[in-house]
Amino acid sequence: MKMRPILLSLSVAVLVSGCQNMDSNGLLASGAEVFQAYTLSDAQVKELSDKSCAELDSKASIAPASSEYAQRLNKIAAALGDNINGMPVNYKVYVTKDVNAFAMANGCIRVYSGLMDMMNDNEVEAVIGHEMGHVALGHVKKGMQVALGTNAARVAAASAGGMIGSLSQSQLGDLGEKLVNAQFSQRQESEADDYSYDLLRKRGINPIGLATSFEKLAKGEEGRQSSMLDDHPASAERAQHIRDRMTADGLK
Ligand SMILES: [Zn+2]
Repeated sequence: MKMRPILLSLSVAVLVSGCQNMDSNGLLASGAEVFQAYTLSDAQVKELSDKSCAELDSKASIAPASSEYAQRLNKIAAALGDNINGMPVNYKVYVTKDVNAFAMANGCIRVYSGLMDMMNDNEVEAVIGHEMGHVALGHVKKGMQVALGTNAARVAAASAGGMIGSLSQSQLGDLGEKLVNAQFSQRQESEADDYSYDLLRKRGINPIGLATSFEKLAKGEEGRQSSMLDDHPASAERAQHIRDRMTADGLK
């Protein structure tokens, strides 16, 4: 088990440079190859997401509905809308000092209280919009296929037709962890940023929260392993891109 400060900075990195670190154990070395050979149906993705989300929920400390965190997140959820491209979403707060948030392809959206402590509502909306973007743009589904495809036994089970039912609780937990810490490409991160920007505009929310959330996270980058940021867009660049779009849209 790592010490808290390391864990925290890791989680900040996960968010800032985009939900990365899926390959922290080297498990995905051959993921790209397997991915080409293996495709999940939308129904399988939904079923796996339901199970992974339930598994992560069962291990998490979830803020009760009456708590300040849950009530604040309800307000944020109302501002963002109740669906991703028509798919219903459900929100919960995980009570933990880690700074993170994720969305799954079944509409499971989880926001960590550590992130809510660090960000104002506008910034939390921007971060969730970014995570919704990864779902809406199909990045999460691809990530799931890669995460699953790395285990040859699972692929074999899948080809026998019983893949989802054959996953144990701990495998589902593993899959969930990989999805939470999914590594997306630089291009996917930029696309998710733009998705969030557009969503915020559409919902009448000031997109400045995107820029300021990146800037806040950038301050937390001190002491981070530089390898964590390899080939990912730097927070400062991402913030600048949002500010440029705002200027172009006359929002300054
Ligand atoms: Zn991301």
